[in-house]
Amino acid sequence: MPPAQQPASGSWSPPVDNHVHTQWSWDAPREASMARSCEQAVAAGLPGLAFTDHLDFTTWTDGDQIGALNLDPHRYSRMHLIDLDGYYATLQECRQRYPELRILSGIEIGEAHLWGASAAATVARTAPAGPDRILGSLHAIPCHGRLTAADDLYRLMPPDEVMHSYLAELLRLVEGSDLFQVLAHIDFPRRMWPWSAGPYSEQAFEAEYRAVLRALAAGDRVLEVNTKSPLLSAELVGWWREAGGKAVSFGSDAHQPWRVGDKFKLAVDMVEAAGFRAGRDRFDFWRR
Ligand SMILES: [Zn+2]
Ligand SMILES: [Zn+2]
Repeated sequence: MPPAQQPASGSWSPPVDNHVHTQWSWDAPREASMARSCEQAVAAGLPGLAFTDHLDFTTWTDGDQIGALNLDPHRYSRMHLIDLDGYYATLQECRQRYPELRILSGIEIGEAHLWGASAAATVARTAPAGPDRILGSLHAIPCHGRLTAADDLYRLMPPDEVMHSYLAELLRLVEGSDLFQVLAHIDFPRRMWPWSAGPYSEQAFEAEYRAVLRALAAGDRVLEVNTKSPLLSAELVGWWREAGGKAVSFGSDAHQPWRVGDKFKLAVDMVEAAGFRAGRDRFDFWRR
């Protein structure tokens, strides 16, 4: 006999996917498509999704800290600035075509603490409404006079040093920029953690994680559970709660439409185990 408390199949209601890329991201693969991502969201039963294409800069302006640090910022030749007019035109088309979805605008800012003036000017261009979701990300850190991508760091230093350096810079990002609302993929280089280094251990970096989480909670911001990265443990999301963190965002970080909402059931179960629940409605962050 099945257990009486088993929820009926289909009763699970996934949250909004707050981190999706489209053809307007500089690193978009050929199959990237805002419209197909909407179709996938409908098929997966998501109430909505946020299109958070990359805002990455390759040249600095007055007031950007990276200029003062004199770092070479241009780490990929195909990196280019987002075409916001094109992005917003496609967004409008999708909102008309998929009225059953809540389609949020958004942006994923890379290294916002180093590009403060440039990033603030771009966000100001989207006024008066502004993006619905602003993600803060750290994909690269200063190293040997260059803004160095996380995957390159593993060629320059031992794996545990990569994570120590990354989490130290992440604290500078959170403390150094209030432009973003959601901290994306808190341990981004974990995606490239080498097999040869043995299993990744969150506990080995607990003090640094907790310092970042405390700074994030102090600004009343939101922690992302990113389902492209190895899934955070419920224990780590518990550290977020202990730090005073109040809200969690779910993000697939999909660059291909088929990945929208990917692994959300696992992520929701984990976040629930850490003591967070669905917010005031289906479009809200999850809250404690
Ligand atoms: Zn990212
Ligand atoms: Zn992303």
